[in-house]
This record gives sequence, C-alpha cells and structure tokens, in this order.
Amino acid sequence: METYAILTEEQREFQCTVSNVLYFKGVGLHTGRESSIIIKPAKEGSGITFIRKDLNPCVIIKAKADNVCSTMLRTSIGLKNAGKVENKAVSPLGCISTVEHLMSALWGAGIDNALIEVYGEEIPAMDGSARVFYESFYESGIKELNAKRKYIEILKPIVVESETGNGVSIAVYPSEDFEIAYDMDFNHPLVKTGSMDIKVDKFNFYEEISKARTFGFLKDVEYLKKNGLALGGSLDNALVLDETSVLNKEGLRYKDEFIRHKVLDLIGDLYLSGYRIKGRVLAKKTGHDMNSKIVKKIEEYLNFKFIAKDKKEENDFITAGKVATVFA
Ligand SMILES: [Zn+2]
Repeated sequence: METYAILTEEQREFQCTVSNVLYFKGVGLHTGRESSIIIKPAKEGSGITFIRKDLNPCVIIKAKADNVCSTMLRTSIGLKNAGKVENKAVSPLGCISTVEHLMSALWGAGIDNALIEVYGEEIPAMDGSARVFYESFYESGIKELNAKRKYIEILKPIVVESETGNGVSIAVYPSEDFEIAYDMDFNHPLVKTGSMDIKVDKFNFYEEISKARTFGFLKDVEYLKKNGLALGGSLDNALVLDETSVLNKEGLRYKDEFIRHKVLDLIGDLYLSGYRIKGRVLAKKTGHDMNSKIVKKIEEYLNFKFIAKDKKEENDFITAGKVATVFA
C-alpha cells in the first residue's frame, strides 16, 4: 500500500468564522455587471458555502474543486449538470464567477467557515486584489469556533503536467509549512519572466500578497470583450498594460505585482480543496485551469477511503493521530 496524502488534525488551532455580517457591492471584472455579496458567520465544519440568492429557488454551491465549472481567466463555480432539459444537461446552474480573490482573502484571514450570499453572477471585483475583503474581515472581527482546524498534509508528491508539452505544470511536495514557488513567463518587458518563492502564512499574507491586483494587456481587451470577458475591467480594478508600460497612474503596488497576483490566485484556487495545505507547491506558468486540476486531484485522494491491509496498519494510523482518509 502506498500512501500519498492524508488529512491530519492540527491540535493547536481552532477553526474560525467572521464575527459579523459583511456586505460588499461592486462591478464584476468579467460580467461588467453590478453584484453584491453578504458574508455571514457559519458553524464549525461547514466550510465556505456560496448561495445564489438572486435565483428562485436559490442555489447552494459549496466552495470545492468539484464545483469548478469554468477556468477561463477566472475561477467560476456552479452546480454542473444540475438541470436537464430533454435529457441534455444545462449547465452550470447558479454559476458564480471570479471566486478566487475572495477565497484567497478568506484563506489569508484564517476563515474556515462562512456563508456567502451572492446577488449576481460574479463576485464584485473591488480593487482587483484581495485587500478590501481581507481588511474588512479583520476590521469587523474573526471569531474562533469550538473545533480544531484540519489540514491536508502532503506525504508524497502530487503532480499535474500540461498535456500540450508547453512546460506548464504544478506539483505539491511534502512540507511542514505552506510554501509556494511560482515561475512566470510572459512575453512582455514589464511582466516578463520571474519567480517567487514564499512561505505564506497569516502573518505575511496581507503585506506580501493581498494587495497584488489582477492584470491584463490592452492588446487583448477587444478579443476578451468580444468573448464576454473583462467587460468590467478598468483601471480601478486591474493593472492594464500596453506594449511597454502600466497605464494605471498610481503605478505598481509591488515591483513584482504581477507574480504576486499569480500567487494570490493560486492560494484562492487551492483553498477550493476545502482545507489549508501543508505542502510545498511548485507552479510553473499555471493559471486557473491547472490550479483547479491539482485541487481536483487532491480532492480525489481525499475521497478515496483508507483501507488498512491489517489491524496493525489501522492501529498505526490511529496512534499517529491521523484522520482516517488515506489513499492507496
Ligand atoms: Zn486573479
């Protein structure tokens, strides 16, 4: 029997939720339409749950990789194949676009459980980063709950490589901490090639990651808009680049804001596993598509039940204090 990854219980930390109800309103980065969200406290073990309250009946969508329905320039979740018309699936039901920046802020603020009511098809873009959400969580308060926090602990590498052989890959290796090593490769004089290697935790997320804004290239805008994307993108919620420079008057928040935003996205996408991860993530040129592929792989492992080959093996896991979801 080979063990790949396990769910382990962290003894020192408690799960958290928001202390108060929070309200955000704004334009969606891709839909270009106004939407609003209300974030409410949720009980321990319930995780992050989205509800499309503007639909009748409303649609409940758990924040998990299995519900990812689109990864085209953003991560959207919805209930896939939930509805059927003449035996053909109409999907996805209750789609919510661009959840990744909010998910990243929830991770950064240490919020394990929350109920997010959504009025619209997309999470408001705010300033294009995770900062506004994160600051609001801290200002309004974060409450500890009466249950221990669980982590995904990576025991053996999990790797996903792009099938097209373009050097895009993502892998998670064992580590005591949550580390991200990201390699970026853009053909642009400002964004260009670069890498970032960071151990991310609740202490450095705000300063190092949360303020990095999403970015787009002016040359792509027309094509994107024709395809119904970036319709709400503006200098207020994104860094916009022409051939050589950034058009935003205030300039960059970090010298390497682009790669920091890729890390911000990755954190948000990985949090769709439903857990915090103890592991070292090596991401090469990945976007939401590859990010969600590795989370799906992690989720597959999580759903694979541990079958001990004998009593001794079973006892070994119990004495080691592991929660019994192990993968062969
Ligand atoms: Zn993003």
